Amino acid sequence: MLTKSYKIVQPKRFEIYIDNIEPKEDDAIIKIEYAAICKADIRYYLGKRDMRVLDKKYPMSLLHEAVGIVIKDYSGKFTVGEKVALVPNIVSNCMEDKCTNKVCLDNKLGQNYCPRALFASSNYNGFSRSIIAYPSSNIVRINNNIDLCIAVFAELISVANAAIRRIDIDKNDRVAVWGDGILGYILCSVLHNIYDVNFTVIGKHEEKLKEFTADKYILLDDEYKLTSNVDIVFECVGGSNSENAINQIIDTINPGGKIVLAGVPDKNPNIDVRKVLEKGISIYGVTRSNVNDFYNAISQLENDNFYKCISKLFLDELIINDITDYYKAFEMEILNRKLGKNILKFRF
Ligand SMILES: [Zn+2]
Ligand SMILES: [Zn+2]
Repeated sequence: MLTKSYKIVQPKRFEIYIDNIEPKEDDAIIKIEYAAICKADIRYYLGKRDMRVLDKKYPMSLLHEAVGIVIKDYSGKFTVGEKVALVPNIVSNCMEDKCTNKVCLDNKLGQNYCPRALFASSNYNGFSRSIIAYPSSNIVRINNNIDLCIAVFAELISVANAAIRRIDIDKNDRVAVWGDGILGYILCSVLHNIYDVNFTVIGKHEEKLKEFTADKYILLDDEYKLTSNVDIVFECVGGSNSENAINQIIDTINPGGKIVLAGVPDKNPNIDVRKVLEKGISIYGVTRSNVNDFYNAISQLENDNFYKCISKLFLDELIINDITDYYKAFEMEILNRKLGKNILKFRF
């Protein structure tokens, strides 16, 4: 069986590849229906990483947010026609393989931190392919009542779940989500769905903050005069504003507070370590998500209110018939400042 894919070969240049797919005995073959572009894909597209790093990665299929339909199954776990999500963090079962990395057996961390893990569109080909043979243990079933064009947000929902399970949240903790982008929005929606705590969202765009399912929002003005009372902060800013955001959080958070860093910075932030020491602050790193986080994400989508919340993030459907459409989709997402994503429908 042949598959067509678009691979990035140098900054701003894709090429069409036709490959034979060779499924293994535990694989299923999936026809990709919908995918979404992540900030990480945009960094690869624009070449915004060290060229020595990029040269080792190109040529590579981008995209790690995708859902599709089973067209053939060798594993005996799926039926043809079923809707599924693909988990981009690929690692053979650490329990059975007796993985020597303790992190894999720790519920707060887990296999998304396994040094053996491959990640689609980072050190392994991503999902910009017409069909894909994929290990069944990395495929998560989606019920028929859920639209695939909304289920494509499962990856971001799983990332929010992975960030939230990183720490314990107590009923008395005052919690804040810092950042009014899509990850902040989804993290608020998941928090609201699974925890009975009041929390605040902090950001710069009032029209976006109003959409969030937080109990309260605080608008940061440029002069930044925030006096707030928070014990736990999820930082979801990343990018070029990462440094500012982290230092504002360090300024604001109560002594003994916990900061979960979920945003990916463009460059290494210069943070006020002296204040971290003085206030006894704990900083937690989080990245990506694992199969369990995807199961949780898909089951959260079964909740009507949560599903409605996530549906608001769907901006438009971009039909990808050919490589020109694929370029256009990237150029559109680079300029997208709205709260949400344009979703790619694969027809190639
Ligand atoms: Zn991503
Ligand atoms: Zn492991």
